[in-house]
Amino acid sequence: MGRRRGPMPGRDARVDVEVTLEDVARGGRKEVTLQHPMTCPACRGTGAEGERLVTCPTCGGRGQMSTAQRRGYSQFITIATCPKCNGRGQWPERPCPRCSGQGRIAETRTIAVEIPAGVPDGVQLRIPGRGLAGEAGAPPGDLYVGIHLQPHDRFVRDGDDLMLDLPIPVADAVLGTEVEVPTMDGSSRLRIPAGVQSETVLRLRGKGLPRFQAHGRGDQLVRVRVVTPTQVSSEERRLFEQLRRLRDEDVGRRGPFDRFRNP
Ligand SMILES: [Zn+2]
Ligand SMILES: [Zn+2]
Repeated sequence: MGRRRGPMPGRDARVDVEVTLEDVARGGRKEVTLQHPMTCPACRGTGAEGERLVTCPTCGGRGQMSTAQRRGYSQFITIATCPKCNGRGQWPERPCPRCSGQGRIAETRTIAVEIPAGVPDGVQLRIPGRGLAGEAGAPPGDLYVGIHLQPHDRFVRDGDDLMLDLPIPVADAVLGTEVEVPTMDGSSRLRIPAGVQSETVLRLRGKGLPRFQAHGRGDQLVRVRVVTPTQVSSEERRLFEQLRRLRDEDVGRRGPFDRFRNP
């Protein structure tokens, strides 16, 4: 008594999708195009338009091809399966026009994939039943969608947090200010404390990305970059010189090591 074997279930399929930071922030639908080989429906996989077969013109009916190669005094002969007839030695007199005699064609399918908000970069989403079709009566395979985050021109993602570089003028760094900074939802007010140093990271709570499969949102981190002006007007130059004189008198700098003391 032979072992009963059911119809073969379909194989899993894999596809990659590029998502933007906006997709991750809001979640939503994304269309992916899937290509996989399937049996040619025109010839049902025979590769022939009619019934008549002729001797394969590429291999002369042997089904194999041999190529000789000389290396020094030795001769190597490589034997490979004929690529045209796939080793059958015969070829349809009139190849199927749909599949050019290959018996298989590439099927293209477009599938809408739901991108969950906050999805991490590099993960694979499993979509049950959207893979390749199985044999009659067997379930289809699953579809695996690889998520790839495109770089954003302003924000850098760090888990649920977003990092933004914020250039500020020297005067704002010294005196402190309040600025409007871009966020994923639009913009938000941020207080820059007086005396802020370049590279200081300030935090806008809850302005980051939604947490994946959890509640709440990450933070937006704002890295302050104090910008030194490269061109100044004569008026500004005069004021900076005046500032320098005042500062030097104030902190009493004289020796080469004095500048490393706290200002
Ligand atoms: Zn065909
Ligand atoms: Zn052949």
